[in-house]
Amino acid sequence: MRQTIFLNGKFIPQEKARLPVLTSGFLYGWGLFETMRSLDNNIVYFKEHLKRINQSCKLMHIRFPYSFNKLKEVIKKTVKINRITDAYVRLTLWKSDTLTDTLVVARKYQPYPWQKYKRGFRACISGYRQNENSLLAQLKTTNYLFYQLAYTEAKKRGFDEAIILNNRGYLTETSRSNVFLVKDKTLFTPALECGCLDGITRRVILDLAKKHHIPVYTGNFTIQDLYNSDEAFLTNSLMGIMPLVSIEKRLIARGKPGKMSCFFLERYNLLLRNEA
Ligand code: PMP
Repeated sequence: MRQTIFLNGKFIPQEKARLPVLTSGFLYGWGLFETMRSLDNNIVYFKEHLKRINQSCKLMHIRFPYSFNKLKEVIKKTVKINRITDAYVRLTLWKSDTLTDTLVVARKYQPYPWQKYKRGFRACISGYRQNENSLLAQLKTTNYLFYQLAYTEAKKRGFDEAIILNNRGYLTETSRSNVFLVKDKTLFTPALECGCLDGITRRVILDLAKKHHIPVYTGNFTIQDLYNSDEAFLTNSLMGIMPLVSIEKRLIARGKPGKMSCFFLERYNLLLRNEA
């Protein structure tokens, strides 16, 4: 099907897009992006995504090009023009001389089959290490090569995901999600200082845990902690909550999605619908 995108103020067919190449965005990867889900005309956690990219823009000296309301309107229109009810939406902003280039793309959301959620993800340990002191570690920049390489490495080795450790050997996240461990009915997740993204879904889980009186600890955790956990799961805005059942073919507990993972999965899906 013909795809319409929003590029710098205009809705155009994707194949008609033209861009200058002598920009900092193209030459140096000086840009930011957000991936969101739009369900039944509602952009899920829109405000949170927009706040995150807006804050990152300030850190990266990128001028925010539109008001939140205008961007909401643009995203909704992009989804509508392409006649999608459940959409993957990507907003990209990048530096172009003194201006900011803006791209909005909406595609049909392609969920993992439910069997995948029932079985859970199998992850490897990436050979790439995150520099926890790097500014880039906590931003969703258009320099995603590090994560792309980690993901490609995992796929080549036959795994679903790659667990990334930082330079000090502590857990950070995976190539496209945050990671949670459960031990003795308590939830653990790497602190932001470990070099992980301040994930929107991570925050939702932390809020849900608080609401349901589940104790939570953020801090430094090792791969041993992950092996010794009772269960583990991964989070991101597109796949939601995905149980993690093994690392390098070593099973976590009995290698099955755990109770707390399923609880959060159900709760999150309810929230998505309530939001919608
Ligand atoms: N870490 C990385 C490296 C990611 O790419 C993502 C996906 N944006 C996440 C974590 C999860 O973030 P969110 O919940 O905001 O989608």
